[in-house]
Amino acid sequence: MPVETKTTCPYCGVGCGVIATVNDNGAVSVKGDQDHPANFGRLCSKGSALAETIDLDGRLLYPEIGGKRVAWDEALDLVASRFSEAIAEHGPDSVAFYVSGQLLTEDYYLANKLMKGFIGSANIDTNSRLCMSSSVAGHRRAFGADTVPGTYEDLELADLVILTGSNLAWCHPVLYQRIAAAKAARPEMKIVVIDPRRTMSADIADMHLAIRPDGDVALFTGLLAHLSHSRALDRGYVENHTAGFDAAMQAASGYSLPEIAEATGLTIAELISFYELFEHTEKTVTCYSQGVNQSQSGTDKVNAIINCHLATGRIGTPGTGPFSLTGQPNAMGGREVGGLANMLAAHMAIESAEDRDRVKRFWASPAIAQKPGLKAVDMFRAVADGRIKALWIMATNPVVSMPDADAVEAAIKACPFVVVSDVVAGTDTARHGHVLLPSLGWGEKDGTVTNSERRISRQRGFLDAPGEAKADWWQMAEVGRRMGFDAAFAYRQPSEIFAEHAELSGFENAGSRDFDISGAERDSYDAMTPFQWPKVGPGETGIPRFFADGRFYHADGKARFITTALPETRRTSPDYPLTLNTGRIRDQWHTMTRTGKSARLTAHIAEPFAELHPRDAQALGIESADLVELESPHGKVLLRALVSERQARGSVFAPMHWNDQFASRARIDVVVAPVTDPHSGQPASKNVAVKATRFEAKAYGFAISRTRPNAPDCAYWAIAKADGGYRMELAFKEEPQDWALWARQFFGLDVRIEPLGYSDRQTGDLRLAFFDGETLLAALFIAKQPVAVARNWAISQLGQRHEDLRMRFALVAGRPGAGRADPGATVCSCFNVGVNQITAAIRDGCHSVEAVGKTLNAGTNCGSCRAEIRGIIDGCLKTAAE
Ligand code: SF4
Repeated sequence: MPVETKTTCPYCGVGCGVIATVNDNGAVSVKGDQDHPANFGRLCSKGSALAETIDLDGRLLYPEIGGKRVAWDEALDLVASRFSEAIAEHGPDSVAFYVSGQLLTEDYYLANKLMKGFIGSANIDTNSRLCMSSSVAGHRRAFGADTVPGTYEDLELADLVILTGSNLAWCHPVLYQRIAAAKAARPEMKIVVIDPRRTMSADIADMHLAIRPDGDVALFTGLLAHLSHSRALDRGYVENHTAGFDAAMQAASGYSLPEIAEATGLTIAELISFYELFEHTEKTVTCYSQGVNQSQSGTDKVNAIINCHLATGRIGTPGTGPFSLTGQPNAMGGREVGGLANMLAAHMAIESAEDRDRVKRFWASPAIAQKPGLKAVDMFRAVADGRIKALWIMATNPVVSMPDADAVEAAIKACPFVVVSDVVAGTDTARHGHVLLPSLGWGEKDGTVTNSERRISRQRGFLDAPGEAKADWWQMAEVGRRMGFDAAFAYRQPSEIFAEHAELSGFENAGSRDFDISGAERDSYDAMTPFQWPKVGPGETGIPRFFADGRFYHADGKARFITTALPETRRTSPDYPLTLNTGRIRDQWHTMTRTGKSARLTAHIAEPFAELHPRDAQALGIESADLVELESPHGKVLLRALVSERQARGSVFAPMHWNDQFASRARIDVVVAPVTDPHSGQPASKNVAVKATRFEAKAYGFAISRTRPNAPDCAYWAIAKADGGYRMELAFKEEPQDWALWARQFFGLDVRIEPLGYSDRQTGDLRLAFFDGETLLAALFIAKQPVAVARNWAISQLGQRHEDLRMRFALVAGRPGAGRADPGATVCSCFNVGVNQITAAIRDGCHSVEAVGKTLNAGTNCGSCRAEIRGIIDGCLKTAAE
């Protein structure tokens, strides 16, 4: 009998409910959980492909020391002794944990407890520092606590939804679908997208403001002044529930509209129409994510937004409020347990002696940390300069994701003792670990996560632990016990950790702290259904929105206006004249260690790219499909050029996902400067000065192979999973003497396998195909220009039998045979529908997303591609009209 398990998606902060089914033959399938209040059955393309990412290929299955398999006891003893020795010799601040929003709350809780409560240092920070720490700092400044006031329902109830620095369509697709559905039901609902790029989210927007990078403080400071001038303030609310208004307003009024226009790059007309829309729309929600947070002025941006909501009293009521959307599945859970270096457990403050004493007593802790620890960028600086002697990295890949990534890699390499707990064996970071500890992955581990609307859900295991992999909480408990803290780390299961976490949240709380889940039913951990915090008493459903009563968490119960000065935002110079903006793409997650396993997901965008405006590209002599080198003082990357009107002039966008396993030189954080927001310590990953140069290649290549080829000896390569094998893009500075020999080595083929070849001396085109009987093993397409062969058609050849010579010659000719049209680049991953098929349907009269869906099914399952389909329709209709 198939067995169904209710669990939660491990990707973004939407926190969608998933039902995983293990069938009689062991095969796993997933679908959205209709009962989960985050998604009501929807899943995006990444969530829908979860079952394709749980194989054991590339998994770390056994503990290792120095690359050799060892027993758990040996590995754990070594970790405990090396950490204890470092602490004894150099003090508690000589060790550090760098953890992750991928950890479950129970894992996170123990990491924080071990470091802050028992080692006695606060040197634990998390990759959530790179994601939403500016929101945390902004919330704490304004509300006195890190509180997200609203719920997802508010996005549907609002009459105006502002998405600033948030490409919801690609980064939080199910929330985007909820908003799109609400707008379809109430077309009068307005959506404003504020983003330097015309992202896919802009396709349902009534207004797109192509703001200058980091212009948000100016935009919302100008809005505050406008609200005052137009008498749109809620004076009663400001008077009764806030403090600091006069100073903030005085500062805001000091900027003229032309100054705001200059600082934002928007026209005065654009500013006025946005300001008037806000002024006249009571039910307004302002959503923001990494475009706001990842900035040198990220915290001020958050407060500039909150200021406008406080000034109008638009907070804590249905359809209103500022709304921080977290990137990671458990960034919120990490905040709840105090996983950031400058926080304490259960939303208590490390700066507060009272809070430190409370947590110390609760934990019966021998040595509670007395001061904030090192934030991520500073932590790796301390690793680099030798202050950190022992580092434990859990569930994250800082060699790819940290700014100045090459320097971070060098620091980790030089660190005397590095432990890496991970699911994947060969990450860019794991290759430098002295000790590798195999962790349980999604589908194997048990615990809880919290999504962006404060909803706690269970992640449940439905697969056996592979090899000797163990839960992260177990690894930390074992090390804690070996360091001499037996009683405090004697957990047998995650429910015990959750119970302690819940109890601490209510300990001496009595309404003084926002985070309180002491009413969570501990005895029904296994059966837990999703609930929003706070949950103070058993059976209580919690309050849906914070601050409905106008009471905040500062000592006087009032919220704070924060005075925001306009920051210096220009980072470019004559040497580095372009602004790099890094971010996510629709179908990949973080550093691709999981989503890179799905051929369906890599079909959408198979290569790292740099998106440039056509006029910038022209000025640089770059055409679409050329290779482009991006360079900053910190390093260089090599990416495929994508020339697009969606990009703002003077800016370049590049995805954050690619690592050294999937491309030769595409870790984009290599070029990102390690500059941070002064309040939050969050790196500024969206405003980086770079220069772009066309890469002169002697030859370009495209290859398909049934098996993963060897890392090639060439200037550029990018590899992706494809149906039936792998696909590779290649470029060469020098051409090999013997292409057949090169190809055999690259594909790992026996020298006796002779290729079927075609070459054209005039054009320089060369094609080689290697067969084993009727089975295509691999093929290589070489050209002087970027190879023009239809990618999806070529990949489909891996699944064909090539019975006769005619079929084989069609392959080396690089052309689909008669009746085999090339579907084009994949748009709909669920039904594998390509752009050429959609364009053909539009030509045949399908002029709406629904009509395209009816004809091709595209966009009718997860819906993640609906924005792109809409964009293709608009583009085709515009071209037809010209
Ligand atoms: Fe997962 Fe997609 Fe839902 Fe995010 S929106 S939680 S990635 S299914």
